[in-house]
Amino acid sequence: MSAEIFKNFIGGEWVAAVTGETFPNVNPADTRDVVGLFQRGGVEDARRAIDAAREAQPKWAAVPAPKRGEILHKAAGILESRADAVAREMTREEGKTLPEARGEVGRAINLLRYFGGEGSRLCGEAIPSERPRVFIHTVKKPLGVVGLITPWNFPIAIPTWKTAPALICGNAVVLKPSDVAPLCALRMVQALDEAGVTKGAINFVTGPGSKVGNEMVTNPAVRALSFTGSETTASAIAVECAKRRARVQLEMGGKNPTVVLEDADVADAVEVVTNAAFFSTGQRCTATSRVIVEEPILDKFTDALVARVRKMKVGNGLELGIDMGPSVDQSQLDTVLGYVDIGRKEGAKLRLGGERLTDGAHAHGYFSTPAVLTDVTPNMRVAQEEIFGPVAAILPAKNIDDAVSIANNIKFGLSASICTRDITAAFEFINRIEAGMVMVNLPSAGVEYQVPFGGTKGSSIGMREQGAVAVDFYSEIKTVYLKY
Ligand code: NAD
Repeated sequence: MSAEIFKNFIGGEWVAAVTGETFPNVNPADTRDVVGLFQRGGVEDARRAIDAAREAQPKWAAVPAPKRGEILHKAAGILESRADAVAREMTREEGKTLPEARGEVGRAINLLRYFGGEGSRLCGEAIPSERPRVFIHTVKKPLGVVGLITPWNFPIAIPTWKTAPALICGNAVVLKPSDVAPLCALRMVQALDEAGVTKGAINFVTGPGSKVGNEMVTNPAVRALSFTGSETTASAIAVECAKRRARVQLEMGGKNPTVVLEDADVADAVEVVTNAAFFSTGQRCTATSRVIVEEPILDKFTDALVARVRKMKVGNGLELGIDMGPSVDQSQLDTVLGYVDIGRKEGAKLRLGGERLTDGAHAHGYFSTPAVLTDVTPNMRVAQEEIFGPVAAILPAKNIDDAVSIANNIKFGLSASICTRDITAAFEFINRIEAGMVMVNLPSAGVEYQVPFGGTKGSSIGMREQGAVAVDFYSEIKTVYLKY
């Protein structure tokens, strides 16, 4: 059966790329399965999308905000009616297990409803004047055209958590998803279009970051750029946006720690770390990749973790009973296996996993077994660099001070977790850890849509995403002085 061809969405029309070229979106669990052919857009396609957005933006902004909210609510309902099909497509294009994919589609639906509700709450303030008979108030205004550039690891949640707040504020959007997994973002765009978003207010262009993405970053008509992805790409975008003084929001990598203190419930801590390090194949920016364990329970915890992880079933996420899917592509798999080797050469011990799986059901996918490295020291590359795969590095710590110091000795600061039954230790950690999100007795990954999301240090630049604060990035305040 030949693969379906998916088009770009520009000015309310599904169109082929000016280049006339397409590229395949391939199932990482079975590379014989082509999920679809997508448009290899270029600079001209991005320009057309930006022009269409510029034309449509005043019309979309003229729709009263609560009405824009109703449209987002309607899109949520449309997506909900297709949730299972979209989740299956997600497993096929990204590799995460079907339950994980269903959870992510549910999150996108929640995000559309949540930001739909924000349409009735885009409030300003009334502020007392120091002069008589002067009334001062503020209103939130849209920015205009905003560019959204997203990675492959949350193929619908990240596009939705940028698009929904951008649209509710009255902006027009140009969205460029990752070429590695673009189908679910397209499904979100379809739902928004069918729900009645003004033609041209949402545009979708696939193609290389160096062409489509770069045009969005450098085009003066794009007032703000929200990006999630790697540090390297983010740095280049930051420079370009600074040159033309465009507003920018960059969500980058993590090297998130889970600290396990001596008093922790070991069985609970093992579940927390297994979830945080290996679910979604470790391909979550908030995944735990450093497990910092107080020395008195180091052996007990490590043995229990190894026994638990050994039971994990790796395979095609569409099948029942699979705990972990494949890496998303060959390059990601090479990175994972490469870091396992680097760790061993640095003196770490491979206690479990880190092997490529190539037989039987694994023959056509990018599978490897979840890896646990022990005897890791804080300055090893496996303890400092983001791997973005199923590799957990275990580091011993003398006490909580040592654990916090190891945890903070890193350029990243996205999420962090601690397992303890000591309330004082928990609050010490909450106060001292350098991270944008802190979890106590919960996995470092697995965040909720209605609360602020983002990191500190090298993990994030700009305003927070998700939760009510997300609208701040996509709007600006106009202050009005009125004498009567
Ligand atoms: P990536 O940087 O390779 O790509 C991200 C997006 O940027 C893609 O759409 C890509 O096409 C585009 N791009 C590439 N070059 C570009 C350029 N020169 N100009 C404009 N756009 C360009 O990242 P990835 O491999 O897709 O995603 C994995 C990374 O994402 C990891 O580092 C992970 O930590 C990070 N991530 C962070 C968060 C967060 O919220 N902090 C969430 C998920 C993923």
